[in-house]
Amino acid sequence: MEAEKKHKAGFVSIIGKPNVGKSTLMNQLVGERLSIITSKAQTTRHRIMGILSGEDFQIVYSDTPGILKPEYELQQTMMKFVSASIEDADIIIFVTDLYDKHDEALLKRLQSAKQPIILILNKIDLAKGSQIEDKLAYWHEVFTPTMTLTVSALTGENVPELFSNILENLPEHPAYFPKDELTDKPEKFFVEEIVREKIFLNYKQEIPYSTQVVVESFQEDAKIIRIRTEIFVERRSQKGIIIGKGGAALKKVGIEARKDLEQFFQKQVHLETFVKIADDWRKKVREIKNFGY
Ligand code: GDP
Ligand code: MG
Repeated sequence: MEAEKKHKAGFVSIIGKPNVGKSTLMNQLVGERLSIITSKAQTTRHRIMGILSGEDFQIVYSDTPGILKPEYELQQTMMKFVSASIEDADIIIFVTDLYDKHDEALLKRLQSAKQPIILILNKIDLAKGSQIEDKLAYWHEVFTPTMTLTVSALTGENVPELFSNILENLPEHPAYFPKDELTDKPEKFFVEEIVREKIFLNYKQEIPYSTQVVVESFQEDAKIIRIRTEIFVERRSQKGIIIGKGGAALKKVGIEARKDLEQFFQKQVHLETFVKIADDWRKKVREIKNFGY
């Protein structure tokens, strides 16, 4: 009898500085098997999700566009987003190119991650002389990834190898999203990302990391989208901070999120946010997502 093949699924975060080729690489990875793409959506301002499903796997890619800006004042915000991407990920793809230089804070954060990290040296189609060897030596001096691959996201060189490695490192897990339902589920994912971004921008250090956003309902009609989200925190004190004096802080998050959502969906949005305390939400939220909402 044939052994039953276990299903694999997971979140893959693509991290790196602007222009190194993250989006191009994700498009290659998702486009790798065009016939089994279930969803692909993007905006210019928010995390891009690409979901690639096969019979026995589902890979949820996220990219962080516009976040890793080099300006020093954005350093802290950048690190918050990077940290969030790392926390959510089962696998981290750290993209560099022939011209990229390392960033101490980013490397330190990456090095402390427990997940497998695949270091990508991209744009090898442009390499001259010993540039690839030199650059690899440079990176290996400052950073120890789980593995390293040289690729060209543009031509697709070595992208199948990267895909195999992702699949190999993917945990055994049921699919997070229905494989045949196309667009509405990832839209909820975007809502969560947008609300979460506002939480990251409005609260200090530990608060964003203790919260998780779940879209509880999403109803769209011709004129308006009604969205109800729940923000999970771990402790009562955190709930108070999220809500703020007289509800002011939560209201600000809601207004900022709604503006972005309206821009994203090109439609009027009514957004409700509720704060809930849930011990151990990290586990629970994965469970909730597992039901596909
Ligand atoms: P991101 O900002 O990290 O998402 O980078 P993009 O994917 O938007 O790519 C930035 C630029 O680099 C674009 O002009 C791409 O066409 C180019 N690019 C990306 N990957 C490669 C590659 O492998 N080779 C070459 N020659 N150009 C690339
Ligand atoms: Mg990009």
